[in-house]
Amino acid sequence: MSFSHLGLSEKVLTAVAAAGYKTPTPIQDQAIPHVLARRDVLGIAQTGTGKTAAFTLPMLTMLEQGRARARMPRTLILEPTRELAAQVEESFAKYGANHKLNVALLIGGVSFDDQDVKLTRGVDVLITTPGRLLDHFERGRLLLTGVELLVIDEADRMLDMGFIPDIERICKLVPFTRQTLFFTATMPPEIRRITEQFLHNPVRVEVAKPATTLSTTAQGLVTSGREPHEKRDTLRRLIRSADNVKNAIIFCNRKRDVATLYRSLARHGFSVQALHGDMDQPARMAALEQFRKGEVTLLVASDVAARGLDIPDVSHVYNFDVPMHPDDYVHRIGRTGRAGRSGTAITIVAGSNDAKAVAAIEKLIGQAIPWLDHQSEKKPPGEPAAQQAPRHSPQAHRGDGRRHRAPRPDSHRSAAVARIDETGSRRPNPARARSEDSDASHLPAFLLRPVPVKA
Ligand code: AMP
Repeated sequence: MSFSHLGLSEKVLTAVAAAGYKTPTPIQDQAIPHVLARRDVLGIAQTGTGKTAAFTLPMLTMLEQGRARARMPRTLILEPTRELAAQVEESFAKYGANHKLNVALLIGGVSFDDQDVKLTRGVDVLITTPGRLLDHFERGRLLLTGVELLVIDEADRMLDMGFIPDIERICKLVPFTRQTLFFTATMPPEIRRITEQFLHNPVRVEVAKPATTLSTTAQGLVTSGREPHEKRDTLRRLIRSADNVKNAIIFCNRKRDVATLYRSLARHGFSVQALHGDMDQPARMAALEQFRKGEVTLLVASDVAARGLDIPDVSHVYNFDVPMHPDDYVHRIGRTGRAGRSGTAITIVAGSNDAKAVAAIEKLIGQAIPWLDHQSEKKPPGEPAAQQAPRHSPQAHRGDGRRHRAPRPDSHRSAAVARIDETGSRRPNPARARSEDSDASHLPAFLLRPVPVKA
């Protein structure tokens, strides 16, 4: 089956061919004709299924008729995060290469005035996050009465992030007669309620999860001591003892832990970037771009920042923290093993709460995740394991008969020593000094002796 039977315009078909797509994905095949027939669509699909093109391609086709008026966007796309919004804008640039449409991205971290100039000119497609849209609306910069089509993307993520009241408000601000396309990966009760309230007789299109995660990803668990420095130590051992880490995303549960881990890895000489919600927009985009292009090997990220991002070909995912919601585990490990490639996902388990969270994940995915360190199975949860020999090679559980690799000589050790000496000679902040010491816990004790400091 090709794209030609779906009813898309010639301009769109040319752009699709230029993108190299031969066959529509199931969500594209099923949703596009209904979107073009002006039906509301409830799409149950996650990233990686081609859902962005499923709404972008028919929207481009429909927008060929008509013109935008100042401050009155014709179509509105709501995304939970700035990165996803920026990614959708890229899709419009790619698939809309043969169109002369005004596409505006309205997101935090980008100057209000620049965005305002665009709105004044009139936009065909406004891509935004709920908060930023309401900011502009409240300042009287924007009228939503001209919206013909509303896309709500990653709705379950919006729910996790507390955006549902904003979504409800926006749904009431756009005309009742607009067309609505609603995408979500799961259907918790709150999402069901919203769809019942705001979609009119929708066509339900449900596609299977992309063939990633569970089938093409080797998963494993590794124990660690509970202290942050012990977990950092475990992570470094894992990365260094694996011989096939092309690139990796390392997930933390909290933003501040992303920042701390990023700094620690950078100090230890790793090629690393960070991605979390407190970074300003240019820094987030730059970090992501560097990782995509392979200019850095490791990306330390929070769930919010990384959810739904299209980063092909990630060889490893490390869960520095066990995710608090089992769903997040599936999303995280879905970053690797994409498009049929094999991937490895390793989770650091530290303490009884982590063990409980792992049990919930195993229940959700319907399988046990193997321990990569044999002692872990016998060790009571929470007992430090960071001192044990690093035998967590990602290959360890594959039963390929290969011996565990010996740990690499710590080539960053001298750098770490120099840093401690240097810090010791300054000691501006005892808390910082303490954490730096603890981060270097693998050093021989004699190197950690306090350095005399002259006043
Ligand atoms: P999405 O689920 O929208 O994030 O898309 C996932 C990836 O699939 C993106 O990199 C798209 O460029 C790619 N893609 C979308 N549609 C197709 C298609 N019909 N054939 C091949 N790749 C596609």
